[in-house]
Amino acid sequence: MIDFSAYDVKTPEILGHRCCACGSIYYPAPMICAKCSARRDPVTGKHWETFALEGPVTLRSWTRVWNLPDGYNVKFLLFGIAEFANGLRASGRVAVEEPTIGMRLTSRVEESDERPGKPVNIFVFE
Ligand SMILES: [Zn+2]
Repeated sequence: MIDFSAYDVKTPEILGHRCCACGSIYYPAPMICAKCSARRDPVTGKHWETFALEGPVTLRSWTRVWNLPDGYNVKFLLFGIAEFANGLRASGRVAVEEPTIGMRLTSRVEESDERPGKPVNIFVFE
């Protein structure tokens, strides 16, 4: 009998990283903790923890991109930088019609396959 459980479609997520030595958190992952200089082995991740970045965010900046590459069927896309409750900031797509800086949104992660190559997980702030 073949075990298909490894092929289950999982909710896509993007991970934040926590230094176990001092508790500092990062996104994206650094090679060395800026606070305590602990090294992060990118293969084993030893002495570092990961956690899903999600939930409520505050929109810190945004822009409307009109000149999209070939293959997009929309006139423009909105991109922004949002801050999570834990203080980490990330860029992603903004999925509200009239964004304003400081507005409270919710972050989710979706798999985007709009560009050439492998699909990637992106943040969507809505
Ligand atoms: Zn540290």
